[in-house]
Amino acid sequence: MTPVLYIVIPCYNEQEVLPITAPMFLGKIRELTERGKISDDSRVLFVNDGSRDRTWEIISELARQDCHYAGISQSRNRGHQNAVLAGLMEAKDRCDITISIDCDGQDDINAMDAMVDAYLDGCDVVYGVRSSRETDSFFKRFTAQGFYKFLAAMGAEVVYNHADYRLMSARVLKEFANYHEVNLFLRGLVPLVGFKSTSVSYSRAERIAGESHYPLKKMIALAVDGITSLSVKPLRLITSVGLFVALVSFLGCLWALITALCGRAVAGWASMTCIICLMSGVQLVSLGIIGEYIGKIYLETKARPRYIISERTDNMSVGTEKLPLSGEK
Ligand code: UDP
Ligand code: MG
Repeated sequence: MTPVLYIVIPCYNEQEVLPITAPMFLGKIRELTERGKISDDSRVLFVNDGSRDRTWEIISELARQDCHYAGISQSRNRGHQNAVLAGLMEAKDRCDITISIDCDGQDDINAMDAMVDAYLDGCDVVYGVRSSRETDSFFKRFTAQGFYKFLAAMGAEVVYNHADYRLMSARVLKEFANYHEVNLFLRGLVPLVGFKSTSVSYSRAERIAGESHYPLKKMIALAVDGITSLSVKPLRLITSVGLFVALVSFLGCLWALITALCGRAVAGWASMTCIICLMSGVQLVSLGIIGEYIGKIYLETKARPRYIISERTDNMSVGTEKLPLSGEK
């Protein structure tokens, strides 16, 4: 039996690019079907992430034109990670494999061939890894590489140069559904699920149309989310810095005591000011880092829904789900 593939594509204000890339995704489904790699029941599943432009109208229109197009719409903008999750969770009971990919044509669609081949060879997760970043601006390349290095240094292991272009089998997704965290950092979580995995490299192109939604501010937010949701290393670093400062302070005390006892104590305004400034800086940064973790705990305890689907195209309505085999819950 050939596997059913769902290509999951998050879309946020993508009215310029969608009419260009949607037929490319459909073409890939057709090509893989003709080559006997995947089933004709495969779909291109768009996730509208609360767009304010005509994105959802375009998706609905595409679904009316060809049954291979499907779409779900989030009730509001929740960000790329939640949009991908919504699509994956919707797809997991209807297909055998999913491939998540951005809708702007930056990730090479042809890498899907190798991904599906790897799945057919027994891999459950296939990471798409960018082989070069020549088309990215110097700034984007520099910040993105810094992002991966910083994550690794802070103990959040991610596959280098892999974003969210990846194949995941339905059985991985079913296990992944048990990860209930609200602070989502998919590329860090997927490796934790395990299963046999491999990577496929591809070169990243420029955006076909429209603009990037990931300015530096959002990249930093993603990095902070990634680190704090995957690792407690920053908390340990605080302890190490605290120990170091305590040791230096102890030596400082000794020095002050000896100076005083020798009767050589002078009004040390500059040294006092420096010590106070340094100590308050260290303390405030430490408090900030601890606060970041407390904020995460606060959000996790609320356990609010990670996505809310407000609309579906007809072929994604609940009645069309794959029926469970007899005896299965
Ligand atoms: N996206 C989304 N919700 C958001 C921001 C982005 O679903 O709030 C989608 C967007 O439509 C695209 C993908 O996430 O398909 C990646 O975004 P973008 O291309 O802007 O990021 P970049 O490639 O520049 O990092
Ligand atoms: Mg992009």
